[in-house]
Amino acid sequence: MTLKRSEKTFFGNLRFFNRPLFLAKETASRIMLPLSPIDTDQKDLPMIISENTVVLFHYTLTDESGNELDSSTGKDPLAYMHGHKNIIPGLEKELDGKTAGDVMIVTIKAAEAYGETQDERIQEIPRTSFQTEEMSVGMRFEAKTPNGPVSVVVTEVNDETVTVDGNHPLAGKDLTFDVRVDSVREASEEELSHGHVHGPGGHNH
Ligand SMILES: [Zn+2]
Repeated sequence: MTLKRSEKTFFGNLRFFNRPLFLAKETASRIMLPLSPIDTDQKDLPMIISENTVVLFHYTLTDESGNELDSSTGKDPLAYMHGHKNIIPGLEKELDGKTAGDVMIVTIKAAEAYGETQDERIQEIPRTSFQTEEMSVGMRFEAKTPNGPVSVVVTEVNDETVTVDGNHPLAGKDLTFDVRVDSVREASEEELSHGHVHGPGGHNH
């Protein structure tokens, strides 16, 4: 007796909810429609950072201790062509999908920035290899290698030998970027063929 009543109630409830649920779905799809980018000719849609867009952005770069290493404050924004490895991979990834006016603070791991420090790039070489008598820590030299010229910095000076480091100065460092996207535009045919930006913030040739 009790079971029968329960079944009846169950069916009754299902039928009752069937219609309102259907109506709710209809309403939802009608509300969603204007949000879809139907009108592709609309010029006021903000351009999204994607492959082959030219991006201008302001940045302040700090290291793990919060020391400012570089900044575009008071200067022109930095310009680059997205998707062409013109900037460090980690930052390029973070900028993907952003648009003009977007701000973000991101920390990029060394591996995704200037790479880890490579011990083989630190070498002890005879002092006689240098074309100068004066040697001190911090001096920069250009070393000729089979892979082309490499900029090295002196890290230690002894009587017979000098230790130089050919790693990028920012190698092995996690970097924090405080970024503000200034503008996003499409790259020109000429820029695409060169693989870099021309004009303000880019190449002039
Ligand atoms: Zn060019």
